[in-house]
Amino acid sequence: MDRRTFIGLAAGGALGLTRFALPGNAIAAERIEKLVRSNAEWKKLLTSEQYDILREDGTERPYSSPLLHEKRKGVYVCVACDLPLFPSRFKYDSRTGWPSFYDVLPGHVETEADRSLLMLRTEYHCARCGGHHGHVFNDGPKPTGLRYCSNGAVLRFVADRA
Ligand code: FE
Repeated sequence: MDRRTFIGLAAGGALGLTRFALPGNAIAAERIEKLVRSNAEWKKLLTSEQYDILREDGTERPYSSPLLHEKRKGVYVCVACDLPLFPSRFKYDSRTGWPSFYDVLPGHVETEADRSLLMLRTEYHCARCGGHHGHVFNDGPKPTGLRYCSNGAVLRFVADRA
């Protein structure tokens, strides 16, 4: 193990992440250590709007998120557990009223079929705390064609240091 690998593993360990080596040029997905809390604990830690979205699959009002207008470079993290989800380079204006991204950091969200509201949609949630963040659709821009339709109320923007 060379020095850089050792530091990388040490840093990953500090973040609760385990990095797997993948063959070829595949981007290494991370196995995220789960953060489990009771509903009562989440209720204490989150605002009522955050709790409604993250733990009850709620949706914020369209055009309500200040993050729609965020144009700086940085990363959008889960407000509940600080796991980075979307680098700003994946953000685009979907004109839907919700902050939208065409890709996500590999392994940092998980998806599940959502059959509520008489529709078949794919919901996605934070891979660490399990909090619901939004739905992913197939009408996004290149190169992925995906649209991660997200609730800005459960994201926190961390700007790059200048
Ligand atoms: Fe989270």
